[in-house]
Amino acid sequence: MTAAGSRYLRIEVPEERPAARTTDFREVLRSYSREEAMLEAQRCLQCALPFCVEACPITQDCRGYIGLVADGRFDEAAELTLRENPLATTLCKVCYHYCEDACVMKGRGVPIAIRHLKRAALEFGNSGLEYVPSAPREQRVAVVGAGPAGLMAAWELCLRGYPVTIFEKQTAVGGQAGAIPHYRMPNHELLVDLQRFRNFDLTIVTHRTAGVDFTPESLLAEGYRAVFVAIGASKAGYPGIPGEHLPGVVPALEFLYDVNQGRPVTLGKKIVVVGGGDVAVDSVRTARRLSPGATVAMAYRRTRGESPAGEEEIRETEPERIDFHWLLSPVKVLGTDRVEGVVFQRMQLAAPDASGRRAVTPVDGAFVTLDCDTIIMAVGEKADLTGFAPELGLKIGNKGWPEGGRPGYATEVEGVFAAGGRSVVHAMAAGTKAAESIDTYLSKKAGRAPAPRPDPFGEGAPPPPVPEGYSGPVWKP
Ligand SMILES: Cc1cc2nc3c(=O)[nH]c(=O)nc-3n(C[C@H](O)[C@H](O)[C@H](O)COP(=O)(O)OP(=O)(O)OC[C@H]3O[C@@H](n4cnc5c(N)ncnc54)[C@H](O)[C@@H]3O)c2cc1C
Ligand code: SF4
Ligand code: SF4
Repeated sequence: MTAAGSRYLRIEVPEERPAARTTDFREVLRSYSREEAMLEAQRCLQCALPFCVEACPITQDCRGYIGLVADGRFDEAAELTLRENPLATTLCKVCYHYCEDACVMKGRGVPIAIRHLKRAALEFGNSGLEYVPSAPREQRVAVVGAGPAGLMAAWELCLRGYPVTIFEKQTAVGGQAGAIPHYRMPNHELLVDLQRFRNFDLTIVTHRTAGVDFTPESLLAEGYRAVFVAIGASKAGYPGIPGEHLPGVVPALEFLYDVNQGRPVTLGKKIVVVGGGDVAVDSVRTARRLSPGATVAMAYRRTRGESPAGEEEIRETEPERIDFHWLLSPVKVLGTDRVEGVVFQRMQLAAPDASGRRAVTPVDGAFVTLDCDTIIMAVGEKADLTGFAPELGLKIGNKGWPEGGRPGYATEVEGVFAAGGRSVVHAMAAGTKAAESIDTYLSKKAGRAPAPRPDPFGEGAPPPPVPEGYSGPVWKP
C-alpha cells in the first residue's frame, strides 16, 4: 500500500469539467500537485526489466525519472528526461504513451501515469536547461521539414557538431504537431523545447518549399553534404466520393491549422466529421468548442473498438455533446451549390483480416443520410511529392509520409535520406535513426569513426543522477 491507498489505483489526473471546457480552448488535463506526482510515482515497481522503457520509441528512461519523482527529486527528474528527449515539453502533453500500454501495472490495475509524471518532472524541476554542441564540424546538413522528425534529426546532428539548416514551407515550426488543438497542448510547448536548442549552429528558414524553391539535389549542389527529407504527410486525403469538393467540405488538417493560427474558419449549424482517427476526434472537439450551439457528429466506418483514435481521447470526448455514429461509410455528399447532407452505407463487422483487425462489409441496401451544412473530412493525409525526382525512390510509410527505402532511411540518391512517423515520438525515433545514418555516411566521407550521441549537456557534465540501486535502462536501440 502507498500513502494514497492502493498501489493499483492511479492518482486521478485532474480534468476540467465538460460543461466548462467545451465553451473555450482551455486545457482539459491539469497538472498533478507535487504531492500527487510523488504518490503516483511511488506506485511504480521500478521493474528490473522495464517494459515501459522498451515500449517507448525513443527508449526514454521513464523508469528513471519516475524513481526520482517518487523521491521528490524533480530537478534531477527533469534533467534525466531532457537528456534523451529534446521535445519532452511537447510529449508530456501529447504523446500517445506507448509506455503505459506496456506497464506491468496495467495488468494489475491501472498503469503508472508515465506521461503525466514527465509533465510533473518538467513543471516542478528545472527544465530551463540548454543543450551543448560538440566541437564544430564543417559538413553542413540540410533538413527539409520542421516537424518532429526534422527537429529530432537536427538535435542529434547539432549535438554532434554539424551545422544544420532546416527548410520549412510553413510559417511555423512543428509540422502536424502544430495542428494539435490548444485544449490538449496550449501552443507554447514546442517553443519551450526549442529554447533549449539555442546554443546550436541551427538555422530555420521558413516559407521555402522543396520541389518548388529547391530540391534535395540542388541543396547537395549548393554544398550541403547530406539532406534529410522529413516532409511528413501534409496533403489532405479524400474518400473519392461524388460531391466531396463541394463548398462546405473542409479538409481536417487545414481546418485545425487555421484554428490554431487564429485564421477565420466558417462552420455551419450542422457539422459532420467523417473519419475515426485522432484527427477526426480533434476536429469534432474543435468544432464543438467553436460552435457551442451547433449539432456536431462524427461518423466512422468501423466500431468504437476498431477506431484508430486513442481510448483516452474518445473517453474525454464522449461527455462533450458529440453524436457518434459507428459503422457508417460515406458514399455521397449531397448538395448542388454547397453541402446539404451526406449519405452513408451502413457497415457490419466481419471476420478479422490478415492483420487481426476485424474487417467491415456493407449491409446490403442499408443507407443512412445525415443532414449537414459542413463536413470536415478527416480520412487521412498523404505526402505531397510534387517536384521530387522519382530517382529518389521514395517509399510511402503506412500513414502517408515518404521515406528512403535503403538501410538507415537512405534514398537511391547518395547523401539524401528521408523518414517520418505515425506519432510525434515515432517521428522523433525515425529522426534519430536517420541522423545516425547521416553521421555514419559523413564520418566515412571524412575518414573518421561515427560518433555515438555525445552528452547533451556537454562533455564533463556530471553523469545523470539516478535513484539508489538503479542500473540504467536495460534496452537501447
Ligand atoms: C490534428 C493532429 C493531431 C495529432 N495529435 C497527435 C498527438 O496527440 N500525439 C502524437 O504523438 N501525434 C499526433 N499527431 C501525429 C503527429 O503530429 C505526426 O505523426 C508527426 O507530426 C509526424 O512528424 P513528421 O516530422 O514525420 O511530419 P510532419 O509533422 O508532418 O512535419 C513535416 C513538416 O514538413 C513540412 N513540409 C512538407 N512538405 C514540405 C516541402 N515540400 N518543403 C518544405 N517543407 C515541407 C511541413 O510543413 C511540416 O512542417 C497528430 C496529427 C494531427 C494532424
Ligand atoms: S515519450 Fe511517450 S512513450 Fe516515451 S516515455 Fe514519454 S510518454 Fe512514454
Ligand atoms: S513497467 Fe510500470 S511499474 Fe514497471 S518500471 Fe515501468 S512504469 Fe514502473
